[in-house]
Amino acid sequence: MRTVSAAGCCGPSQGQGWSPSMIFRENNETFGADPRSMTVEQLNALGHEKRPKLKVMRAKCLDCCGDQPSEVLKCSAIDCDNWPYRMGTDPFTKRTGNVGNLK
Ligand code: SF4
Repeated sequence: MRTVSAAGCCGPSQGQGWSPSMIFRENNETFGADPRSMTVEQLNALGHEKRPKLKVMRAKCLDCCGDQPSEVLKCSAIDCDNWPYRMGTDPFTKRTGNVGNLK
């Protein structure tokens, strides 16, 4: 797997200071920076904050369904990796998290 250091692409070594742009083009390929090589500050600068993973999965499902919770509930794509988690809970552990946070 190809990985690129965020600092190596946009860091001070290029004399530009930090740039929030993390999309790169090389050899006619477009790719994003590897988040494993980024600092929390760099991720925050891109608008990403640490969030509970179930909440992230729920947000993805809402995005997938045009921000319509009723459509997420009705989702029939059972082969989707998110499907068991689409209601913002982990049915394997029966943990509910904070259901009040759900839209
Ligand atoms: S589980 Fe359904 S709603 Fe969620 S991402 Fe997959 S297809 Fe979209």
